[in-house]
Amino acid sequence: MCDQCLGRLFSKQLHLSSNKFLGKKLKKNYISKSKCYVCKDLFCNLDHFLKLMLDLSSNYEFQTYGVGIIIKPSIVDRDDFIRSKYKLKGIDSIKTDIAKELIKLFTKKTQKTLDSFDPEITFTVNLKDESCQLHSKSITIFGKYVKSERGYAQKQTLVTIVLVQDVEFVIFMVFLNLKV
Ligand SMILES: [Zn+2]
Repeated sequence: MCDQCLGRLFSKQLHLSSNKFLGKKLKKNYISKSKCYVCKDLFCNLDHFLKLMLDLSSNYEFQTYGVGIIIKPSIVDRDDFIRSKYKLKGIDSIKTDIAKELIKLFTKKTQKTLDSFDPEITFTVNLKDESCQLHSKSITIFGKYVKSERGYAQKQTLVTIVLVQDVEFVIFMVFLNLKV
């Protein structure tokens, strides 16, 4: 098993935050030549996915982001097998751990904030086919006419626009509410 996967199995009980560091300690610096049984050395490749996230988001202005992970079912199966075989409860799943690692790396690079509930942009990182998608939340802009002369109608305008690509905006809905 790799340092990251081994450490993850015990870090919660020991209240430690670095799975990799703990895994290394537990292995007493023993270096295995074979691939990790659980993740097949996926954690060594996270920089590639970080780069995809950085490239994709470089043209967006945002403060908050979320991350979703897609991995091969066989990895989830092996992770479940190890956890049930050794009756390990309350530990992070491999999917959660991959997301945590990517969030750590992305936040460090960009200083953006993770928001799992209502992020401005969401990455879907697909480790199966080594791709990444970005979805941006619709942006709502409120505009208001100011009544400058008597006799003119005062209008309240609500325009919702959706960010389609880097610079392309599409008017999604225009709603006029007349008030005299
Ligand atoms: Zn591993």
